[in-house]
Amino acid sequence: MQDIRLKVNSKFVNKYRSGFPLILTDAILNQKDLKEEGTVVNLVDEKNKFIAKGYYGRQNKGYGWVLSKNEHEKFDKNFFKNKIIAALNRREDFFADEDTNAFRVFNGEGDGVGGITIDYFDGYYLINWYSKGIYSFRKAILDALQESVEYKGIYQKKRFDAKGQYLEDDDFVAGERGEFPLIVKENGVQFAVYLNEGAMVGVFLDQREVRKTIRDKYAKGTNMLNTFSYTGAFSVFAALGGATKTTSVDLANRSKPKTIEQLSLNGIDYEAQDIIVEDVFKYYKYAVRKNLKFDLVVLDPPSFARSKKVVFSAEKDYTKLLKETIAITEDNGVIVASTNSSAFGMSKFKGFIQKAFQETGHKYQILEQFTLPNDFRTVKEYPEGNYLKVVFVKKVV
Ligand code: SAH
Repeated sequence: MQDIRLKVNSKFVNKYRSGFPLILTDAILNQKDLKEEGTVVNLVDEKNKFIAKGYYGRQNKGYGWVLSKNEHEKFDKNFFKNKIIAALNRREDFFADEDTNAFRVFNGEGDGVGGITIDYFDGYYLINWYSKGIYSFRKAILDALQESVEYKGIYQKKRFDAKGQYLEDDDFVAGERGEFPLIVKENGVQFAVYLNEGAMVGVFLDQREVRKTIRDKYAKGTNMLNTFSYTGAFSVFAALGGATKTTSVDLANRSKPKTIEQLSLNGIDYEAQDIIVEDVFKYYKYAVRKNLKFDLVVLDPPSFARSKKVVFSAEKDYTKLLKETIAITEDNGVIVASTNSSAFGMSKFKGFIQKAFQETGHKYQILEQFTLPNDFRTVKEYPEGNYLKVVFVKKVV
């Protein structure tokens, strides 16, 4: 494939000169020249002067990523190996941590290559490819990874079907096949992880610090509600932190056996906990009717979700969801409001929180807040990459 030149709209030239990594659709004047994903592209200004070099790969976010400011760079095995080794070096503390063996080792543009992430699960590496474009560098990247780490096995997720979603496949790539569930550790807590069962593996690593904080500082003696609970990871940490009871609510049928599995793995009697397969919005109506109240509520909805009738969008509907949550939270109770939507930042998110409390006539106090942990490295040139926002809010009376 021949490299191509992409002419950058003059409004965007400074942005790219100062290191912005995402190739935005709006920034390119000659989009029609983009044909095959994986093509190496040279961004140039209106005078054809070189700005930066990257690749064409379609994601919902844009048309690819800038990888280098060196005009003569080759995106070969050595290029990727340097990036991977730098990323591994930044995570020395994680590799040395005896209580945790599940974390991210390579975080896309944060580690210099947008469109790919690599997670570590006790000797197994899981690569996420976010476009056909980056996948076309598969051989160079795989060789680079295999030369840089010792591994038991390597798995992958191709996240680039027509809608930018996961493509069903055998996700095994190299080494030895794992025996699943793989039991990994996070701050001494065990998780059952499945690397070859669809898009999600059983745990979202970016919430590690939030789970630990809940266990160590907030759970004790609480009646805890975990909404959009997935495999119940927050419930496990709350129970281990001394919650008197946890209630996990998720729409997906799989959430019940998965939550039972995670609780049991950690020696928690699952029969003493409630695990409810239901739409959270329906459950809230039930809770109001029954006058149920919780001391600690974790609110971690997907950015977008379509259940039978309703479409939930974090950007549009978070305030309403919070208002309904406030109604079933005890006085002086704590809401852990979380979102992974990259459509808005922390200050807008805090605006939703303020509005919800104001409209329900309650006072509140922000106790602490979290963004992505260090293994999910981000760069200052692309703050949008830090999508996670978690705020611990107390309902004050
Ligand atoms: N908080 C979880 C991750 C949530 S993933 C954790 O930390 O592990 C989002 C989950 O929301 C999915 O499991 C999905 O099944 C669930 N979900 C989506 N819409 C829902 C709804 N309306 N009611 C209940 N669960 C829903």
